[in-house]
Amino acid sequence: REYRQTLEFLTLQEGDSLEEHQITVAVRKRPVNKKEVGKKEVDVVTIPKKDTLIVHEPRTKVDLTKYVENQDFRFDYAFDDTCSNELVYKYTARPLVCTIFEGGMATCFAYGQTGSGKTHTMGGEFQGKSQDVSNGIYAMAARDVFSYRTSKKFSHLSLQVSASFFEIYSGKVFDLLNEKNKLRVLEDGKQVVQVVGLVEKVCHSPNDVLKLIQIGSLARTSGQTAANNQSSRSHAVFQIVLRNIDRVDRAAGAQVYRLHGKFSLIDLAGNERGADTCSANRQTRMESAEINKSLLALKECIRALGKRGAHLPFRASKLTQVLRDSFIGDKSKTCMIAMISPGLGSCEHTLNTLRYAYRVKELGTGDNDNDGPKASPDDYDPEANGTHDTDYSRL
Ligand code: ADP
Ligand code: MG
Repeated sequence: REYRQTLEFLTLQEGDSLEEHQITVAVRKRPVNKKEVGKKEVDVVTIPKKDTLIVHEPRTKVDLTKYVENQDFRFDYAFDDTCSNELVYKYTARPLVCTIFEGGMATCFAYGQTGSGKTHTMGGEFQGKSQDVSNGIYAMAARDVFSYRTSKKFSHLSLQVSASFFEIYSGKVFDLLNEKNKLRVLEDGKQVVQVVGLVEKVCHSPNDVLKLIQIGSLARTSGQTAANNQSSRSHAVFQIVLRNIDRVDRAAGAQVYRLHGKFSLIDLAGNERGADTCSANRQTRMESAEINKSLLALKECIRALGKRGAHLPFRASKLTQVLRDSFIGDKSKTCMIAMISPGLGSCEHTLNTLRYAYRVKELGTGDNDNDGPKASPDDYDPEANGTHDTDYSRL
């Protein structure tokens, strides 16, 4: 198959402006890994264009390539298995760095099943068991934050950069920068949500941030075994916070910093965990219900971002509650990167992930230039018949 996507991406020059969206939804396919090659796992996902992904779902177990149903999905961007973290970053999280300097809230979510590449993309590539945190989206965003801070446009703001890193597991919040200390979440009368006692470390350079990413990432996975893969059942939230000096508190002799903007980067719990409702283990069942609830609430909260007066069910889960201020205001922006495993064995989870990501934005279905039967719109969303935005000329 002729594949020109990467080339198309690379022809975009540094500084070229991207389409400005309040919500950006991208999908990323990870490469087939050694284990899958060993098992002769069939790759059922193709990305023919930079915004379209096709799942070739076999309809018979006998000949896997003969009867397939091709379902195509369109997103803002579709990244294939040759794309680097850097390229993914450039089109998803990077445009949001500007948002926080302009006084807005930004969020970037990595969504998908366990093993699809969420932590690889957000936290950094794995070399064996150790993770190189310098090439993840967290680190790349931190680097850009520091270069923006001293840029002509924003240096006059004299902003202070700080970072925090916490985990939400089974509806409870744990501080990844403070020995997994359990934290309380409080909401005041004005619906302002606070994570009480969360460590927020002031950073003076990208390197300072890198160290925090390293500490938090290790804390997240420490004591974890393959059987008790806790990180797949928790959401990790890494936040870069910008503050400016509001006034000097003379009595205390200290400077008071006011929130200017915040970038939350979230490595979500494996979405397949939310579906496990019939496990024998009560604890697992409860965790699953919690994950399911939070992912449903998240989708609704992001969708509300683009719509004035829309219902914002932020209290439905801890995740959406702590991110509440990210879902309000005209200046807030969100991107979601839906991660896809390429193998046939993951086909069902892949389709679930794509349907979810599709619902977050509803860009419409692809224009389908392959021969397979088209998926009916009902496969995507029964309520949205006839309401798809079909003007793709701008893409
Ligand atoms: P998740 O966090 O979604 O459970 P991981 O990020 O841990 O998944 O990825 C699972 C494995 O696949 C890791 O060993 C990771 O290095 C590898 N992997 C994921 N995405 C890619 C990619 N784009 N390129 C190469 N390896 C990848
Ligand atoms: Mg992970």
